[in-house]
Amino acid sequence: MMITGEALIAGQAVKGTGAVLRAWDPTAGKSLDAEFFAVDNAQIDAACRAAEAAFDTFRSISDEQRAVFLETIASQILELGDTLVERAVAETGLPRARIEGERGRTVGQLKLFATLLREGSWNDVRIDQALPERAPPRPDLRLRMIGLGPVAVFAASNFPLAFSVAGGDTASAFAAGCPVVLRGHFAHPGTSELVGRAIAKAVDICGLPGGVFSLLTGAGNAIGQELVRHPAIKAVGFTGSRGGGMALMAVAAARPVPIPVYAEMSSINPVFLLPAALANRAEEIAAGFAGSLTMGVGQFCTNPGLVLALAGPDLDRFTSTAAQALAGGAPATMLSPGIAGNFQRGVEQLKGQANVSTLALAPQEEGKGAPALFVTTGAAFLAQHALGEEIFGPASLVVACKDVAELLQVTEGLEGQLTATLQLDDADLDAARALLPVLERKVGRILANGFPTGVEVANAMVHGGPFPATSDGRSTSVGTGAIARFLRPVSYQNLPQALLPEVLRDSGTPAWRRRDGELTRN
Ligand code: NAP
Repeated sequence: MMITGEALIAGQAVKGTGAVLRAWDPTAGKSLDAEFFAVDNAQIDAACRAAEAAFDTFRSISDEQRAVFLETIASQILELGDTLVERAVAETGLPRARIEGERGRTVGQLKLFATLLREGSWNDVRIDQALPERAPPRPDLRLRMIGLGPVAVFAASNFPLAFSVAGGDTASAFAAGCPVVLRGHFAHPGTSELVGRAIAKAVDICGLPGGVFSLLTGAGNAIGQELVRHPAIKAVGFTGSRGGGMALMAVAAARPVPIPVYAEMSSINPVFLLPAALANRAEEIAAGFAGSLTMGVGQFCTNPGLVLALAGPDLDRFTSTAAQALAGGAPATMLSPGIAGNFQRGVEQLKGQANVSTLALAPQEEGKGAPALFVTTGAAFLAQHALGEEIFGPASLVVACKDVAELLQVTEGLEGQLTATLQLDDADLDAARALLPVLERKVGRILANGFPTGVEVANAMVHGGPFPATSDGRSTSVGTGAIARFLRPVSYQNLPQALLPEVLRDSGTPAWRRRDGELTRN
């Protein structure tokens, strides 16, 4: 399949009329083939109107048909074969094995949503049968979920497949019956076009209206803002920086009809080294921590950017082992020159903060990121807000607290996070019990004796958390729970059976239904 640099609007390849840009190979330091043209406002409007026109048809097809559509996208992505893998490697600097793994994750994610559609509980059907004899009589009430409408999805830079064009936001919006207008990330435009064409082909194979999917090309804030402002768009999915997410939230809130923005933005993912675990396993934990921090050049939203522990000789053993492992780390190519620049600026700023000492700092190179580890005190962390800001890349800050009370105070002072990790042994259970209520208020996922990188795509996964980890801590962007972001309930009161959707009828095929308060499957 050829990369032409065109946008895909409702199944048609269309050349943008705006600024021309080329993709960049961050490893080779050179631009790649095909010129990409930025879409103009009329093209954005055409994509959004086509999505609006497709919505009623798309949401009315059966769950089985939507499941087949998701599976067809998966098979079309696999059919791209090496062309896709090679382009993604070239555009991101990520190793081939990582891209192949991510492709597997993307395809698996689409199939998981197909399974959810066939299982049917996402409909959240509730039936309260009429009680005509009751005083006052109760009407017949039946509830199901429907899609919100066309969703604007902003692809992430750091997962060119799994959080990009056919990533979790797109898969969950499609599963909910929502057409998608995709704002491609300019860090990997060729990869985006290939996957976008695979989706457009799946739309065609499944006989769906072209407006179910559009891919917008180009760079510049104006494109995304025009998209979010468009009246046909009913929700936004975003993964990226705090500044970008906040800007889009402001645009969405200022519309005549405001819409929800599900933005996954920034998190430093505290790792708690509890005393017994630190005494028993300081060196082992340090080795695991260094591996997690540097994996993928630290370009994960779940990167362990903060370590919390009590000051003392056990923490010193941890820091010296971790520092040794990190100091020798060679600089590695980051996803884009912009991301590498942000990382190096973040490291310099942290290094220059009062009360912060450098434990390890491998030499940085242009376009690359090398590991960095710093240490500060609990008192300084509490006093200096900037110490809690995300540095996207392989950098982390150890906070040495003077006692348990200070550790709890630092924990209370943390912003919302995607994850918190507890390194604990049996003797740490009471300490962990004291932390848990605080962590439950602060984070979306609490894990023990592991590291936060590596997010399983599963039913029970939460990849979310209170602000600023996300814009809405009630949601997850990974796992089947992600569908809930793009659904809303509709209740039908006393409607004749003939007018009810099939899933709400008495004669409906077996499905999960909460009938008069009891969950049944028939
Ligand atoms: P980004 O700058 O937030 O961009 C993400 C997407 O949003 C891009 O398509 C971008 O396109 C668009 N965008 C950004 N600001 C916008 C605005 N004000 N109005 C409208 N659209 C806007 O993220 P990035 O390019 O992936 O990386 C930059 C930094 O974000 C990184 O250095 C890192 O700090 C952070 N980041 C965090 C995570 C995470 O998971 N926590 C993931 C990736 C990146 P245009 O710029 O062309 O408008």
